[in-house]
Amino acid sequence: MKNIMMVDLKTQYDKIKTEIDAQIHEVIDSTNFINGRKVDIFADNLAKYLKVKHAIPCANGTDALQIALMSLDLKPYDEVILPAFTYVATAEAVALLKLTPVLVDVDYKTFNIKVQDIEKAITDKTRAIVPVHLFGQAADMEKIMLIANKHKLYVIEDNAQAIGANYTFEDDTIKKLGTIGHIACTSFFPSKNLGCFGDGGAIFTNNDILAKNIKMIANHGQAEKYYHQIIGCNSRLDTIQAAVLNVKLKYLDYYCEARQRAAEYYNKNLKDLEHIEIPYKAAFTNHVFHQYTLKVKYGLREFLKNHLKIHNIPSMIYYPLPLNKQNAFKDIAKTPTSLENTHLLCDEVLSIPMHTEMTTEIQDFIIDKIKNFNN
Ligand SMILES: *Cc1c(COP(=O)(O)O)cnc(C)c1O
Repeated sequence: MKNIMMVDLKTQYDKIKTEIDAQIHEVIDSTNFINGRKVDIFADNLAKYLKVKHAIPCANGTDALQIALMSLDLKPYDEVILPAFTYVATAEAVALLKLTPVLVDVDYKTFNIKVQDIEKAITDKTRAIVPVHLFGQAADMEKIMLIANKHKLYVIEDNAQAIGANYTFEDDTIKKLGTIGHIACTSFFPSKNLGCFGDGGAIFTNNDILAKNIKMIANHGQAEKYYHQIIGCNSRLDTIQAAVLNVKLKYLDYYCEARQRAAEYYNKNLKDLEHIEIPYKAAFTNHVFHQYTLKVKYGLREFLKNHLKIHNIPSMIYYPLPLNKQNAFKDIAKTPTSLENTHLLCDEVLSIPMHTEMTTEIQDFIIDKIKNFNN
């Protein structure tokens, strides 16, 4: 059997190699490495795919979050509410702008921001909420938008892990994640669901004024070359990365389905194990399984992780330490609510191999080792 990997980008590439290589070579031949035409084409294609008015490419997902926050004209010590159980980038962008990250708990079942706790964390300094669609499924956007509208707060979706996923509203309207909040951010880091061959990211909005601001900020604060209106930064998607993404975007739905099929197979075979809880899917979302994350009970996680390792099966803990316990954040972040679920999850979660190229042979091997980890 092939080497088992958390993510198999090589097999994925081999299947579309001719197309990708041709696109990359076109860029090299044109030498338009920066702001080439393919960047605009990709931005258009992505906006059409998501059904959002503006898609603005940038250098990476962390920049996307920072630029989104910069576009809102917030003041130091304004508060931004986000989940304590997420990747560091979500809070980093907030802190870099001298805003105060306010960390709230997540739902134990979905891993996503606990909506009931958002209102408890709102103060007269709160300006924005950053829900994260963790591991590939939606945070409860309809309820989050209601709270945000009631308190006049901005919502920035961190959609780095769930591009392509949908949210279904009470009235059965379906929207793609990344098009519901005032702004949304994503990452094209190679292992993300839509990944390029290096770093990349994008910002989405339906608001024309915010879009104009975001474009300026990502481009040194200029709308016209050498005339700088505001302080911006240099955050661009390379043309070569846009060329890769233009090809891969066509396959995104197919990639999502491949992940969903693999998840179903894991679910079916792991659902009745006593020490393991399979991922829960909320009714308002589909799930594009950026990660397939188990909860391992009774303190058995390390034991299982080691057992898998002995059989050359990789597994990862996303995330071992919540943001409130990170040295970088423990003195600046506010934690107004209990973070009970966050702490429990940090002790229980284990993500097992999940990608677009899973085979039943690989999955059966992994399932077998998980089932028999006592012997
Ligand atoms: C990957 C990721 C980011 C950051 O993306 P980069 O492109 O690596 O900067 C932000 N938020 C979440 C939830 C992520 O998973």
